[in-house]
Amino acid sequence: MLTAHLPSGYLLYRAQPVQALPVLAAALVGAVLPDIDMIFFYLVDHRAIHHHRYWVHVPLFWAGVAALVLPLLYRRGWHWPGLVFFAAIGLHMVLDSIGGGIMWGAPFDTRLHALVTVPASQSHWVLSFILHWTFLAELMIWGAALTLFLRRSRA
Ligand SMILES: [Zn+2]
Repeated sequence: MLTAHLPSGYLLYRAQPVQALPVLAAALVGAVLPDIDMIFFYLVDHRAIHHHRYWVHVPLFWAGVAALVLPLLYRRGWHWPGLVFFAAIGLHMVLDSIGGGIMWGAPFDTRLHALVTVPASQSHWVLSFILHWTFLAELMIWGAALTLFLRRSRA
């Protein structure tokens, strides 16, 4: 997914029952956090490895972090923002599985699993993704998030 992680976090926030700023922040940060590996991808690895192969895009890594952190947050009464944060990270992995591929079986299986293979049909990979039919999912996420956001702003 190229552009719709942030609005997907907003949709997740609106779909859950606790409407509060810390929960919104958790949803938005969790929805985009795995893509922080793009810094390493471009500046250190110089695009040598698909960034979905870094540990921040491995579901089992986040499951382990959640298993460690959520009990601590529960003790402090911050379990709901924590749950939403990890749900947003899970949503990121699901959305990246549409066309990009996620190592759902890592570390035991290092294949990238994608619902659809986006062929390199254009001169640049970004163009190939934007002109592929799966980009409609991104546009729908943006549309739904903007609609909900604008409705709330008017209310
Ligand atoms: Zn990602």
